[in-house]
Amino acid sequence: MESVFNLATQHRETDSKIVAALERLSQAFRILLWEQTKEHDLSPIQIQFLVYLLYHQQERGSLCRVSRLAREFDLTQATVSDAVKSLEEKNLVYREPYPGDKRVFTLRLTPQGEQLALKLSTWANVIKENVAQFCSKEQEIVLKFLMQLIASLQRGGIITISRMCITCRFFQPDAHPGTDSPHHCKLIDKPLVNSELRIDCPEHEPLIEVKGQE
Ligand code: SF4
Repeated sequence: MESVFNLATQHRETDSKIVAALERLSQAFRILLWEQTKEHDLSPIQIQFLVYLLYHQQERGSLCRVSRLAREFDLTQATVSDAVKSLEEKNLVYREPYPGDKRVFTLRLTPQGEQLALKLSTWANVIKENVAQFCSKEQEIVLKFLMQLIASLQRGGIITISRMCITCRFFQPDAHPGTDSPHHCKLIDKPLVNSELRIDCPEHEPLIEVKGQE
């Protein structure tokens, strides 16, 4: 198969152009994250851990364990442990024993870590500001496309974890055809409009048991 970066073929293939565009977008994310590292003397992954812990620490404890971070970010446990150790030394995170099992612990933000995580959490907002320029119909089409692409990459083993409605066992697509809220979530027993479909839902349970997915 030809490379998606070969301009001779890319110019006439929409799928190759989409992949090249996504690669260019990933570069924008990389640059924005690196800008934060210079300002705060943290590695990109440490910044991502802090922001992840900020928005997942109230949820099921398993989401904030070292093993879970390793799967979430596709890293080895040794790499995660090193990054977490450095965050502990900076007094940004601490380990809280897991109730009922002293061998397991949950990662928590210290007050200082929470303050910094809040500040860092806006690192991708400039991209949102640009996305917001598009009308809601266009955003819905892109959201649907991206969710289906992520689900396909997850089935192919390229993406390990996703907590999207379309891969959730509680999701009933097109349960209410012809209405403004065509889908249904069996967990909250509520119809869902397309724009309510979630990319990262704490209550998500996988439709098919995927290796590494909780
Ligand atoms: S539990 Fe969450 S991910 Fe699953 S269908 Fe309901 S809202 Fe979507």
